[in-house]
Amino acid sequence: MDKITIIVPCYNEQEVIEMFYPAVQKHVKKIPDCEFNYIFVNDGSRDNTLEKLRELSAAHDDVTYLSLSRNFGKESAMMAGIDYSDGDAVIIMDADLQHPPEKISEMVHWWREGYDDVCGKRVDRAGETWLKRTCANIFYAVMKKFSTSYEMQRDVGDFRLLDRRCIEALKLMRENQRFTKGLFTWVGYNKKEIPFEVQPRAAGTTTWNFLALFNLAMKGMTSFTTAPLRLMTFLGMTISFFAMIYMFFVLTMALLYGDPVAGYPTLMTVILFLGGMQLSALGIIGEYLGQIFHESKGRPIYLVSEMNGKRLIYKSQFVPIERNTTLRD
Ligand code: UDP
Ligand code: MG
Repeated sequence: MDKITIIVPCYNEQEVIEMFYPAVQKHVKKIPDCEFNYIFVNDGSRDNTLEKLRELSAAHDDVTYLSLSRNFGKESAMMAGIDYSDGDAVIIMDADLQHPPEKISEMVHWWREGYDDVCGKRVDRAGETWLKRTCANIFYAVMKKFSTSYEMQRDVGDFRLLDRRCIEALKLMRENQRFTKGLFTWVGYNKKEIPFEVQPRAAGTTTWNFLALFNLAMKGMTSFTTAPLRLMTFLGMTISFFAMIYMFFVLTMALLYGDPVAGYPTLMTVILFLGGMQLSALGIIGEYLGQIFHESKGRPIYLVSEMNGKRLIYKSQFVPIERNTTLRD
């Protein structure tokens, strides 16, 4: 009998939680020799998500819920689920039913065939805006060009089944600025992509906007490649090289022909161009410095405040959770 844990990060999902459990249950019950349990992670929702989760876990033995002490973001919420999972494998799914539960049986099939990481690959991004698609294209192209040691999977998101050994590997990576997609790739092992169509949201609204996606992309780049730094060095050297040639040209003109070479426009262009270059170089260094700043503090990735009706306490950050501890109110 295999045991699989389904991890569901939830942020303001009060409308969909009641739909989610029966919709998934309907499909997983049909899978032979497999027992499923659920971990819902309430990521500091501001609506009644926590109430709904309390009701759900009271009604079903196979449902556990974790409630984080505030909104930590989806990446951290997933990590909380991963830390608490006990299955031989784990499936990560969005709460809004955009990840079709009928694909679970296929994932389990490939896992039993020996794959450690069975990931859903979205077949069309048609429902997305032109801007979002273009930005995604640029992001994948840049990542592909610069991360030489391993390739970022395209159009593959968080909908996936992970074997216990991937889970344990992910648990080793306690970095704060989590770019989970990159971490899955970093871990390696046998990957299998299965196509799926992203469904429309069952209810509620997406929390992602352009800025959030841009931030995620920046995090992805700065935590997985130092290529932008190298690029800046390269550009700096190239510009200096051409500046030298130009300097000889100007000197020659002035010494041999007494021609002072027209000044203002050239100067302005060069000053503004170099100023811009220097500022962006500083910005890029700043991005990496920011990463170091966040990581160097070594804070925990998330704090769980409540689990199945019990309040939790942290005694040491390295033994993350003192389970079953009840605090007096
Ligand atoms: N989510 C989360 N914390 C957040 C934002 C989102 O746990 O800060 C969850 C959300 O509840 C959902 C999943 O992450 O289950 C994907 O979010 P959403 O549907 O808003 O994003 P989209 O599907 O539009 O990319
Ligand atoms: Mg969604």
